[in-house]
Amino acid sequence: MLYAKGKATSSTEAVRGITTTASEKKTKSKRNGKMSSTKGKKKTEVAPACSIPHAPDSLITADFDKTRSKLLTINTPLPREKKSLKNPCVFYWMQRDVRTSDNWALLFAQSLAVQNQVPLRVVYALPPPPSENATEGQDGSPPDPAQMTMTERHGIFLLDGLQVVAKELSSSQVPFDVICPTSREAVGETVHSHCTSLSHNALAVVCDMSPLRLPRQYTEDQAAPLFEQADVPLYQVDAHNIVPVWIASPKREVGARTLRPKINNVFADYCTQFPHFTGNDHIEDGATPKNEYDWEKLKEYLNLDDSIAHIPSMKAGHEAAMERFQAFCSSPQHGLRNFDSLRNDPNFPSVCSNLSPWINYGHVSFQRLALDVRALKKHPNGTAAYIEEGVVRRELSDNYVYYTRDDYDSLCGAADWARESLELHATDEREYLYTWKELEKGRTHDDLWNAAQLQLVHEGTLHGFLRMYWAKKVLEWTVSPSYALATAQYFNDRYAYDGNDPNGFVGVGWSIMGVHDMGWKERPVFGKIRFMNYAGCMRKFQVKTFVARYKGAAENAVQATKRVRDEKLSGKKRKA
Ligand SMILES: Cc1cc2nc3c(=O)[nH]c(=O)nc-3n(C[C@H](O)[C@H](O)[C@H](O)COP(=O)(O)OP(=O)(O)OC[C@H]3O[C@@H](n4cnc5c(N)ncnc54)[C@H](O)[C@@H]3O)c2cc1C
Repeated sequence: MLYAKGKATSSTEAVRGITTTASEKKTKSKRNGKMSSTKGKKKTEVAPACSIPHAPDSLITADFDKTRSKLLTINTPLPREKKSLKNPCVFYWMQRDVRTSDNWALLFAQSLAVQNQVPLRVVYALPPPPSENATEGQDGSPPDPAQMTMTERHGIFLLDGLQVVAKELSSSQVPFDVICPTSREAVGETVHSHCTSLSHNALAVVCDMSPLRLPRQYTEDQAAPLFEQADVPLYQVDAHNIVPVWIASPKREVGARTLRPKINNVFADYCTQFPHFTGNDHIEDGATPKNEYDWEKLKEYLNLDDSIAHIPSMKAGHEAAMERFQAFCSSPQHGLRNFDSLRNDPNFPSVCSNLSPWINYGHVSFQRLALDVRALKKHPNGTAAYIEEGVVRRELSDNYVYYTRDDYDSLCGAADWARESLELHATDEREYLYTWKELEKGRTHDDLWNAAQLQLVHEGTLHGFLRMYWAKKVLEWTVSPSYALATAQYFNDRYAYDGNDPNGFVGVGWSIMGVHDMGWKERPVFGKIRFMNYAGCMRKFQVKTFVARYKGAAENAVQATKRVRDEKLSGKKRKA
């Protein structure tokens, strides 16, 4: 990636995995006073590190770092007494981290269950579809994907992952409850009632951490006050980041160059081996729960949009992820061995791990991948680059979304310099103008863009380098920056398996509104936002080879070029 490129400066650093990139050193020296202005800081949420309430010391065992946890029920730090309850247990409320291996939230819940000698249970609340599907914005921009029913592509991947977990939990004697809240407003209440019922009454509940708006509403706004009232502690554990988001930094970071040293300082403390998940081994004569569900019924509940189909080769779950990872690490041709040099070439897709859907759905922990890739002690430059992407870049995305809770998906989330510059150029004349529906079909004058869009729509993925070019052209060819942002987010979240994730909001934000970037030479439409063009892509890789893989990409470009030329000749102005 342009914003991720850089080689380890020494092999020691390479194995350590976290480095300052050459391009960032250059960027630092180029910065002028205006660009590093403090003006934007007023929007940034800041959480002083000392104000984070962790789980109390009395509950912490040697193999769990308490700073991975955050107490969401501030006035209720300790589990309830089991004596006073019928059917006491400890619950893990699984949301983002859908796996039984290498899951710090599940491990902490297990430890609480063992300490209290009560059964461990896991609950998953399926995400309720919105009461009404969102419609187009007033400016004709696409609907907000977060307010639409899930696509079949995402829904089946999610349900398949849950089926894998159901079996794994069953073999560890852990009951798994999949529940269906009646609405988005009722998620916290449904989880609370479920965890405090007469048949399984929680001493304590542990949940994982997603910085996205809806899961935060469910945990922090809806569930925490109810658990607090019931004297049940709700502990949140960041099981997704290696360095917990609230420890990595207490504020929104400017970019990788400011987050990297902070992560680097504590990386060794957090990138530790995982204890084993033993489930309900501590319960004598524990029955094996079936954990069987009518998955078709659950699919109906999700009310999936079948216009965006699942791709059967996308096998969900931890095992499938690890198989891909092994292939990436051991490939004699492409993969880890040339990850540092070839990952920006879309004609070599298998140089990248292609694991982002599994990571984002929580089927695999990046901490596991980091531990394993380092243990190989092979390909130091590839290892360094892989860890840079999977740790610094990925955790930077969580940092941005966590501390920009209200605005991470709108232009308000941009730094002042970027927003002001985009506003100044919002009405600049566009040489090409397309509606989102034209773009969706991959029918522009640009064969490379069309090919990228067709890859996204039909394969549910888009090569990391092309993603940047693709999103920047959406800014260039649509009617306004806010329309562009909505369009790129819509495509990314509806079609990409790895969409609906902080990485997506930051990737699109970087491309269109300069998130984590600096100001560049001012130009029409883009203002000071970094520009990319076709010629630049031609210099990087064989564009025609990539285009030829996508039937229709070149033909659509010929037709669109003709259409645009005819419109120009006839003096007709395009309206978006
Ligand atoms: C416009 C745009 C949209 C994007 N949308 C998404 C998205 O919806 N979901 C998503 O996961 N990533 C997104 N990215 C980031 C990046 O392109 C993908 O993470 C990467 O291409 C995934 O492929 P991979 O698993 O083969 O990654 P690899 O190259 O093998 O990298 C290993 C892991 O590092 C992480 N990673 C790699 N690059 C980045 C990055 N730039 N930022 C943050 N983490 C990174 C991912 O978890 C990835 O799986 C987007 C980037 C852009 C520019």
